Order: sequence, then C-alpha cells, then structure tokens
Amino acid sequence: MPEIKPTNRRTALQSAALMTVGAAIGTVTSGCASTGTAGGTPKTPFTVPDTFVPIVGSDMMFPVRRIYCIGRNYRAHAIEMGSNPDREPPFFFQKPTDAIQNCAPGSVVDHPYPSLTKNYHYEVELVAALNKGGRDIPVEKALEHVYAYALGLDMTRRDLQRAMGDEKKPWEIGKSFDRSAPIGPFHLASAIGHFTKGGIWLKVNGAIKQNSDLNKMIWNVAEQISKLSQANELFPGDIIYSGTPENVGPVVRGDVIECHIDGLPNLSVKIV
Ligand code: MN
Repeated sequence: MPEIKPTNRRTALQSAALMTVGAAIGTVTSGCASTGTAGGTPKTPFTVPDTFVPIVGSDMMFPVRRIYCIGRNYRAHAIEMGSNPDREPPFFFQKPTDAIQNCAPGSVVDHPYPSLTKNYHYEVELVAALNKGGRDIPVEKALEHVYAYALGLDMTRRDLQRAMGDEKKPWEIGKSFDRSAPIGPFHLASAIGHFTKGGIWLKVNGAIKQNSDLNKMIWNVAEQISKLSQANELFPGDIIYSGTPENVGPVVRGDVIECHIDGLPNLSVKIV
C-alpha cells in the first residue's frame, strides 16, 4: 500500500509552491493562451480560459488579473444612492475576471439581460489598467502604475444589490455576475495621457441619461490606486473601474446603450 513519507509530502508542498509561482508568473507575463504547456505550466484535467482585453495600436492583449470597482465616487451619485459623500471613505468591491465582455468600438455588441433581476442598471465608468503593482503606493507615484485606460460599464442588478444591502449582506449577486463588466479596448497612457477631467456620458436609445465630468470624481484615479494598495497588494493586470456619475437607471431588452468619455471611442451595447 503506498505511503506518503515526509520527504514526499515536502516534495509535494514544494511542487505546489512552485506551481503557485508559475501560475502567478503566467498571469503576469504570458500573452499566450491558457492552454500553453511551456515554462512550467502544470498539467491540468481541463483548461480554464484567461481573460484578455485588446490593446489599441498593439498586437498584444492586456491580461486581466483582478477587477476592482470603487463605489459611490461621484458626489451626486453618492447622494442618489442614499449615502453621505462628505463623510464616506472610498470603498471597493470586485467583479470576477471573467465578467469582462469585450466590446469593439464601431459595433453594437449584444449584451444579455441577466437572470434574477427586474431592475437592471447601467453605470458608465473610466477604467484604469495597471502594469505595475505595489503596496502603499503614494498618490504622487500612483499614475506611474497606470498602463492604459478604457471605457467600461459596471452593469448592476440594482434590485438585488439593494436587497442585499438592506439585509447587510454582500453585494455580490448585484454586482459580480456573468458579463457584468462590458469594456472597450485599452488605450495606452503613454499615447493618450492620463484622465483627470473630460466629459463622460451615457445615452439609452439616443437619449442622454448620465452626463458629467471626470473631474467630479471624489477620489481620482491616483488616489484610488493609493487607497486600494493599502488594502491589497496590487499587481500588473489589475484594473480599476473608477466609479459612475449620477443618474444611473434601468434598461430593458431591446435598449441600446451608447457611452462616451472624451478622448476614447464610444462603446455601444444592445440589451438582448
Ligand atoms: Mn460602479
């Protein structure tokens, strides 16, 4: 009968540690598909796809490690959500990486109305993508960590989010579901600069719904990175949805959402 000897256990633990390191390195550096077997990638019984977002002007894709989202980051939106924007420190939640739905500019992408909700809301947001990590990143250095920007939607099952909030339960089911993170391609900060101001708007069926300026963020992107890095070590591949302005609202099947940030191509989805 096979017996696990201490040396074997140690070897197994070391292998597990190496695999973890290999997986982390794979996430950070691999531009290749998840099915690769080179460079210490472990054999697996099945493959799980990684998540990538196209990079404009490059044949490389941006590998997504984590999706962070800041809550209530525009004063008027904080008020409409029933909180006090003057007292609240920034807070963050996450969406699963595979919530990403890539949306090519110039096309209207079908976005499925999700299950369980009767009040499905749009939130247009600037998304910052990091290519450098760190802990306790000072605000003055934070933008050095931003590789690129995109236009994104933090789609929300508002009824479920509110119900969970009312019961002091996690927001997960309202925020972190399949395809809840439509996003356009990333534009390199080295090419287009950093976003601290500029128009941000969203239309439904051609009618303006959200309309604000990025300079109305309570916590700007640099401050978000700094704050977030106090809670979690950040890594290349992390992306941050930087909050939505006021006048979030519902969509139904058949509606077309078009959204815009000055300096980025518009993003359009049709709710199906
Ligand atoms: Mn949001």
